[in-house]
This record gives sequence, C-alpha cells and structure tokens, in this order.
Amino acid sequence: MVTFDQFKANYAILQKRLHDACVKAKRQPESVRILPVTKTHSVEAVEFASRVGLTSVGENRVQEAAIKRPLAPAGIRWELIGHLQSNKAKQALQLFEVIQSVDSPELATRLGRLAQELGLQRGVLLQVNSGDDPAKFGCDLAEAPRLLEAALACPALKVHGLMAVAPLSDNPGDAERTFANLRQCRDDLATRFQVALPELSMGMSGDLEFAVEAGSTCVRVGSMLFGQRPPA
Ligand SMILES: *Cc1c(COP(=O)(O)O)cnc(C)c1O
Repeated sequence: MVTFDQFKANYAILQKRLHDACVKAKRQPESVRILPVTKTHSVEAVEFASRVGLTSVGENRVQEAAIKRPLAPAGIRWELIGHLQSNKAKQALQLFEVIQSVDSPELATRLGRLAQELGLQRGVLLQVNSGDDPAKFGCDLAEAPRLLEAALACPALKVHGLMAVAPLSDNPGDAERTFANLRQCRDDLATRFQVALPELSMGMSGDLEFAVEAGSTCVRVGSMLFGQRPPA
C-alpha cells in the first residue's frame, strides 16, 4: 500500500478531478461524496482516510470487515459494497451502518427482519445491474420496482438510493450507459413510489467523470487513493 504522504497526494488529485468533473457537469462539488474503498488493504488505510477527514469507508467482504473494524479508529461509518450472501446478513448488519449491495427482494426482507430483531436501523442502497452485465451482481432493471417495494416495507431499513457497478470494459460508452440507466431507474422509482431516493452510488477510480455527469452522489474509490490491489 501507499505511504500516508502518497495517499494525501492521491487524495488531493482525486479532489481536483472530482471538482473539475462537477464544474463540467454544472454541479456543486459538495453534492458528490468520496467513499474510500479500503478492501484488501490493512487497517492503516482506514486510518489514512480518517486522518484527512473522510468519515466512511467501503469494504466488499463481511469477513474482512469483521477482522478490521475492531482495530480501526472509532467514529467511521462502514459501508458494504460487495455482494452479500443471506447467511451473512446478520453479521453484515452488526458491522456496517450502510449496505449498498441489497440486490434481491428476499435479501431486503431478511435484512429488514433481522435489523428489527437486533434493534438496529440501517441505511441501504439497492444494487441494480443497470449495465446488464452477466458478470455483475445487482437486480435487473425490470426487477427494481419489486426490490424497492420489499425494502420500503421494512421499517428498520432506510432506502437512501441506488448503486451500480459499470461493466469491466475498454469502451467508455458502457460506463456511460450503465450510469444513465441507473439515474433513469432512480427517477422512475422516485416518481412511481413517491419517495426520495437521493443517493446514486456510481463511479470508481476509472470512470468517475461519467458518473458525475450522470448524477452520482457517491464515488467509490480504491486504487486511485491506496494504489493497486494485489490480484484476487
Ligand atoms: C473495489 C471496488 C471499488 C473501487 O474500485 P477502484 O477501481 O479501485 O477505485 C468500487 N466499487 C466496488 C463495488 C468495488 O468492489
């Protein structure tokens, strides 16, 4: 992983990139938050983020967060951005304040029931496979209304919005299409269900400009801040 000085320099470059993207899209820079993705890195990555004033981190695995969170600075909000298996739902609720990867009505219902039993209130995002990529998790665009309906039926869950991951592709048009579809999906759901779904979590190190253009409010950035991860 990078040193703290390298991290700080990367963070400054990221802030500039995000700022420029917001200006270009005629958006307020404060309207897009940075979620530093600390997966695969040691707990030091969480400390780095905390030291520059970032208040949340993204992790993609429940087991990894279970090891890291007790060692990490307090006062950080942990957000799950990776696929959640239903048998880890309870542990995920105990470890993460926000679950960005709710991708089926069954999972939403289970999380809602368990959160209620545990006396927890949790934020969720609905993950939609808006790039229609067979390699990605997330419900199909056509399934999104059913997923939202299930999540809204759970008093212990607060639905903040939607999340998507663009297909791995050399064609920037794929990311653009994925993000535009997610935005459209959010707008349609908000109208149909008469709910505010303010959060659009989309964009990573390689494609955040397209995401900002399409209305992202949360870019999830790993490698640009912390360096390349070891291959999985
Ligand atoms: C790893 C990961 C990221 C960060 O990706 P980078 O390309 O390293 O910025 C963002 N979102 C999800 C869902 C991830 O799994």
